[in-house]
Amino acid sequence: MTKEDIIKLPNRVLRQRSVRIGVINEDTKKLANDMILSVIDWENSRDHELGVALAAVQIDKSFRVVVVRNNFDDKTDLTFRVFVNPEITKYEGEEIEDYEGCLSVPDIYGKVKRFSKIRLRALDLDGNKIKLNLEGFIARILQHEIDHTNGKLFIDYIKNSPKAFYKLTKSGELEQLDYDKEIKNSSILW
Ligand SMILES: [Zn+2]
Repeated sequence: MTKEDIIKLPNRVLRQRSVRIGVINEDTKKLANDMILSVIDWENSRDHELGVALAAVQIDKSFRVVVVRNNFDDKTDLTFRVFVNPEITKYEGEEIEDYEGCLSVPDIYGKVKRFSKIRLRALDLDGNKIKLNLEGFIARILQHEIDHTNGKLFIDYIKNSPKAFYKLTKSGELEQLDYDKEIKNSSILW
């Protein structure tokens, strides 16, 4: 699996609701591994970005599986945590606006409001129940990824906010996009 296996907007599969995993088996483990390989290959092709997470639908497999990097500060740590059938059971804290990107929306970043804290329920790859209270960046990431399992993307929150769209320059800075020219009529909003 490579970065070429990651599907991008306007691919309509990204708009589908993913199905729950009924039984965790070797196929589930292979799926999670394929997702991780795709993220790492993508990251190797980018100079300024870290591949922090992926939902299975992003490699065209509509199952409720999400992988999240264990260490956001160390690019050499290539380990991921796998969440099967993840659900948010409670949104808490305040809504905070921050930059967000997506491997399925190349080169575009958005300033998106998310809850600062969530309670999460999922299974791990051995079928054990996971219950977590998450806060900050990791809470944002899980909200983004669980949205993917429901066919939702970060741009949906900002599509009517011309000032919320950014792009990454070659030197790795975020620069506001010209909404009318670069976003309004582009296929990502279809
Ligand atoms: Zn995404």
